[in-house]
Amino acid sequence: MKAFDKCPVCGGELAQKTVEKLLRGGRHTATLRVPAEVCLHCGERLYSEDIVRSFEEIRNKLQRQDFYNFRTVGQSFTVEEDWPNSAIKPDG
Ligand SMILES: [Zn+2]
Repeated sequence: MKAFDKCPVCGGELAQKTVEKLLRGGRHTATLRVPAEVCLHCGERLYSEDIVRSFEEIRNKLQRQDFYNFRTVGQSFTVEEDWPNSAIKPDG
């Protein structure tokens, strides 16, 4: 079952790939690998409906800090206010 034969953005060829996806919920992020149809021309990624639903569920859980079924793979950081290059600002 394929939702699209061609890229809906540019009409390019699509290829089934595994891609890395970053999801954000509140101040938390999760990275995971998922199958996607990727446009070989413009890079547009298309996900199946159940995958998109899972993304929503993951974002909601992160937002609610419900970390059951998640595991820690490192820490995330932002910079301090006094980072030497003042063009670089902390997030939040
Ligand atoms: Zn495209």
